[in-house]
Amino acid sequence: MVTTTSSTKLPNTAGRPVVFDADNKVNLLGLTRPRLRDFFQQIGEKPFRTDQLLKWIHQRGVTNFDDMTDLSKALRVKLSQLAEITPPEVVSEHISTDGTRKWAVKVTSGSLVETVFIPDGERGTLCISSQVGCTLDCSFCSTGKQGFQRDLTCAEIIGQVWLANRSLTKFDPQARRAVTNVVMMGMGEPLLNFDNAIDAANLSMDDCAYGLSKRRVTLSTSGVVPAMKKMIGMTDVSLAVSLHAANNELRNELVPINKKYPIAVLLEAIKNYMDSLPDRRRVVTIEYTLMDGVNDSDEQARELVDVLRDTPCKINIIPFNPFPQSGYKKPSRRRTERFQDILFKAGYIVTVRTTRGDDIDAACGQLVGQVKDKTKRNERYQQKYSEINKDAEQVVRFVSAQQ
Ligand code: SAH
Ligand code: SF4
Repeated sequence: MVTTTSSTKLPNTAGRPVVFDADNKVNLLGLTRPRLRDFFQQIGEKPFRTDQLLKWIHQRGVTNFDDMTDLSKALRVKLSQLAEITPPEVVSEHISTDGTRKWAVKVTSGSLVETVFIPDGERGTLCISSQVGCTLDCSFCSTGKQGFQRDLTCAEIIGQVWLANRSLTKFDPQARRAVTNVVMMGMGEPLLNFDNAIDAANLSMDDCAYGLSKRRVTLSTSGVVPAMKKMIGMTDVSLAVSLHAANNELRNELVPINKKYPIAVLLEAIKNYMDSLPDRRRVVTIEYTLMDGVNDSDEQARELVDVLRDTPCKINIIPFNPFPQSGYKKPSRRRTERFQDILFKAGYIVTVRTTRGDDIDAACGQLVGQVKDKTKRNERYQQKYSEINKDAEQVVRFVSAQQ
């Protein structure tokens, strides 16, 4: 077993050794530049190999060391003994009438996560998953209702970007770039899978990998404050925060992690992260899922204006996407526009996320994959609703009998 002792000298490794041997090959797909450099150092190779490998893997889509023609035969043999390049497996692809694509990606036997590609003119946004399910249980999110199995590895997270590129461009260097933006807004809470999510974000932005600008890679969090603090100095990825309510009472109900890290603490963590970025013009995106009769009144819009007063931000309204037995409703278009208008008149840049891929269940909050739930939350949820349904059936029977 070879472990490194030098990784602490390198940025972004978080002191994690790259561990491998002939029986336990390391998957190079999931190694960031500093970790790959670390790996080459351990096997006695020069640091410039790092750039070569990153390009072969992420820009040319090569998974077989034998095809890496600028490496010596001896190095290719050595690599194939100690390492592999293994992307996750796509098991199905659905294409929406609006061009949105959804892939189900197999990560362990019995578990699938979902990845969504949303084309919009020149822009192509890839929404990637970071966990199999989610341990947090936001009341309006269908991923949360699936329970949780495990964190994805970095290879499985960045592998979704790799798979999308393979599917969309076949890694053809002449092809127009298909994935122009990456958002960590799929299944899971990325900051509860910190190392792997940050590594995947950094790889998306690495010039020898996907080379996306930091404004085009966004990590969305429900507000895991200690992890937001830890991000400082480790990444400069764009930040989106799922707020959904402007007071703690309502946010506790919608986003239970708020009980641990209430709004004032969350806003402070946002400020500290944004202040740590050298470019002072960058702002956080505040996500606000709008639910009919829950958080969509004029008064709540004004409360939001007030609470965000000292937070340079843009606001992204997401009209609630329904899923079976969610218990919430999408707001009317009029209500959404009115809510947007109040924020807009208060001086905010406000966008309303259009629902894409609705016909293939690829919209925000509709991603469920297939989660071998370890938390039993899904079972409890199903049981609760079958009881409610039974009650409802009894009421219907009773009413029919009366008529
Ligand atoms: N866990 C992270 C990222 C994944 S969720 C987070 O919570 O931020 C991505 C976004 O989709 C979040 O803003 C989330 O609140 C939103 N979302 C979840 N369920 C939704 C639904 N049913 N309709 C609309 N948006 C939803
Ligand atoms: Fe998890 Fe995000 Fe869904 Fe909340 S909204 S349950 S944090 S995936």
